[in-house]
Amino acid sequence: MKKHYLLTPGPTPIPPEIAQKESLPILHHRTSEFSAIFSEVAEGLKYVFQTKNDVLILATSGTGAMESSISNLLSPGDAALVASCGNFGERWGKIMEAYGIKPTIIAAEWGKTVNPADIAKALADNPQIKAVYATHTETSTGVVNDIAAIGEIVAKTNAVLVVDSISGLVGQEMRTDDWKVDVVVSGSQKGFMLAPGLAFASVSEKAWKLAETAKLPRFYLDWRKMKKSLATKETPFTPAITLIVSLAEAIKMIKAKGIENIWAECKLLARASRAGMKAIGLELFGDKPCEVVTSAKVPAGVEGGKIVKMLREEFGVSIAGGQGALKGKIIRFAHMGYIGKADILVGFACLEMVLSKLGYKLEKGKAVAAAEEALING
Ligand SMILES: *Cc1c(COP(=O)(O)O)cnc(C)c1O
Repeated sequence: MKKHYLLTPGPTPIPPEIAQKESLPILHHRTSEFSAIFSEVAEGLKYVFQTKNDVLILATSGTGAMESSISNLLSPGDAALVASCGNFGERWGKIMEAYGIKPTIIAAEWGKTVNPADIAKALADNPQIKAVYATHTETSTGVVNDIAAIGEIVAKTNAVLVVDSISGLVGQEMRTDDWKVDVVVSGSQKGFMLAPGLAFASVSEKAWKLAETAKLPRFYLDWRKMKKSLATKETPFTPAITLIVSLAEAIKMIKAKGIENIWAECKLLARASRAGMKAIGLELFGDKPCEVVTSAKVPAGVEGGKIVKMLREEFGVSIAGGQGALKGKIIRFAHMGYIGKADILVGFACLEMVLSKLGYKLEKGKAVAAAEEALING
C-alpha cells in the first residue's frame, strides 16, 4: 500500500469534504434540487473570479475553455494576438491553427514573462486585432505575467483580452474586473481542489458582442447556448453533475477562508518553496516566479527525469518535470489548491533523499529547515 502525495500543478489533491460529495448518489439535472446547486455555483464563481460577469461552466478540461474562447470570439480571416512565454501560451496559437486563424505571436523566451509594451506595440501596429490571448501563471515555467498591465493596454483598444488562468485562479491574485480582463478561463483540477473535468469562462459585455456574431464553427461549446441556459439555471447538455455538486462544496470552502487569505497562503508556500530549493543549491528557474508553482533547475550531473521517477516510485511523491525544451532540465513543485504547509516539508524531505541518492552533494535537512523557517517567519 502506497500513500500518494500530489505536488503536481494539476491534478491536485482533493480535500475529504469534497471527495465525499463526489461519491453521493447522482442527482437528475432537470430538477429544482440541481438548479438550486447550479445557481449557487454560478454566483459563487463570480466571487472566485472577482467579476460581475457571468461565468460559464463547461464539461471539458481547461483546454476546452481555451478552445471555446477562440471559436466563440473569432471569425475566419480575423486578426488575433497571442502573447506567449511557455507551453500553455503556445497552446493558444496551436488551437488557432486548427481553426485556420493565423495569429500574430509575441513569444517571450521560456522562463521570461511577456513585456506588456510589446502588446501595446502590436496593437498599435495592427488595429484590426480582435482579441489578445495571454497566460496568467505559465505553469510550464512557473512565471506570472502582469495581467493588470496588459488589461490596461488592451482595454484602450477595440480588442478583447482573454486570459488563461487555469493554474492561477484561486491561488494567485486575479481580479478579473479590476484588471479589465474580458475572458478568464480556468479548470477544476488545480486551485479549485476538484477532480479534472470542469472548465470555466467568465465573459464580459465587450466579449459577448464578439460572441454574438463570430463565425468560426461551434456547437457543443457555443457560449450563446450556455448563456441562454444559464438564465433558467441549466446547461444546454448534460452537465458534469457530480463535479458541479462538489464545486459547490469547494466554493463554500473558498468563501469561508476568503480568497485574499488563500492568495496570501499561496504566497507563503511559494516563499518557503523557493527558500527550500535555494538552501540545497538549486537555482530557481524563471524571471518572475508565480505563487502556485516553483521551478528549479536540475543540477549538473543529475538526470532530471530520474528525480521525478524516484520521488514517485520510492516515496509516492509526485512532482512535475519540465515540458518541451525544458524536459529533464527543471523540476516543478506545485503549491495550489489543497496542497499545504506540511506537504511542502514532505516534498523537500523526499527531494533531499532522492537527490543525494542520485549523487548530488547536499547537507540533508537544509531544504526542510529553510522551508520551515519561511513558514514560521514569513
Ligand atoms: C493545466 C493547464 C492547462 C491545461 O488544462 P487541461 O485541464 O489539461 O486542459 C492550460 N493552461 C495552463 C496555464 C495550465 O496550467
